[in-house]
Amino acid sequence: MHEPKLKDGASHNNDKAASISTDVDTLSTNISNVNISNSKNSVSEGAGHDKDEEILSNKKEYTSLAQNIEQCNTDNGKREQYSLGSNNCVGGKSDNNEDENFISYDELFKDPPPKNDCPLCMLPMPFAADVCGVSTSYQGCCGKVLCCGCGFASALEINKGNMKEWCSFCRVPIQCSEKEFIKRFKKRMKLNDADAFYHLGLEYRNGNKGLPQDYEKAIELYSKAAELGSLRADYNLAVLYMKGQVTEQDMDKAIHHYEQAAIGGHEVARYILGMLEEEDGNLDRAMKHFVIAAKSGEERSLKKVGEGYKDGHVTKDEYASTLRAYQHSCDEMKSEDRSKYEEFLRYKDGHVSKAEYIKTLRGY
Ligand SMILES: [Zn+2]
Ligand SMILES: [Zn+2]
Repeated sequence: MHEPKLKDGASHNNDKAASISTDVDTLSTNISNVNISNSKNSVSEGAGHDKDEEILSNKKEYTSLAQNIEQCNTDNGKREQYSLGSNNCVGGKSDNNEDENFISYDELFKDPPPKNDCPLCMLPMPFAADVCGVSTSYQGCCGKVLCCGCGFASALEINKGNMKEWCSFCRVPIQCSEKEFIKRFKKRMKLNDADAFYHLGLEYRNGNKGLPQDYEKAIELYSKAAELGSLRADYNLAVLYMKGQVTEQDMDKAIHHYEQAAIGGHEVARYILGMLEEEDGNLDRAMKHFVIAAKSGEERSLKKVGEGYKDGHVTKDEYASTLRAYQHSCDEMKSEDRSKYEEFLRYKDGHVSKAEYIKTLRGY
């Protein structure tokens, strides 16, 4: 619930404003200690920040990627390097039902599973980073994935001195040595915690926590994580195979991992499958992906469905129901704490001034 706004002259409100003002200056430090991050703006080098491989964040990146794929197709005369689905194959591996990577049309386009709830606020969280402005963080201590709202609320409490710097779920101190940090992950890995494999892979990928940067090791850990069900590992593997910068470009593997992630509910993997189908001229399949992703809260996919409606590839009813479902997804993921974090990021990114930011916080 929002507190009623008080006039600037109201004394307790001024106190609140003053304390918020001081808070804002030191908040970043405490935010990084509770490990929240999102896809655009990593504010943490701490435990298990959930940052996906960056791709398709802008048109330019996508265009160069598309050219890259085009190149690989041209080299082979026709599109035999990869194929996107089961009913429009042109000679790719997934044309073959005996292929272990074969995914049927029905399986690929079935409704995604419900989103997981944050164990603290019990509100749904997206599978990908930064869907409807919501991101998550992994706690290496207890293996829990918490939402950015709960992480931000903890950071505020730590900032005010009301709470120790500990995991807001299991109360284990967040600050620890690099050695201890890796030890925590390894302990979780012994329990076959998919997220632990994925996050240790991330640390190798980035060369953090005293580890050497090692893509081979990262891919090995991502693969194990994907096998154990980490959608983010599938997504990140897909991006690495698609980019072909640190490993051979392999579109068969990339598509396979995008599909695995998308089937599990990863909103951005679904969007990229739509982009790839669109690039390939398969508008029907592209729109199917975009509709599913948009209904899950993926904003770029919603724009694509809107364009599809304008161009006559999507019916009015389908566009309307997609819009409603998109809104529903974002609404059910909204909370005051999550909005506060979003506002903090806007301030941190320089989109709003400190004065405006403090004014917004006072509105809560
Ligand atoms: Zn939460
Ligand atoms: Zn914990």
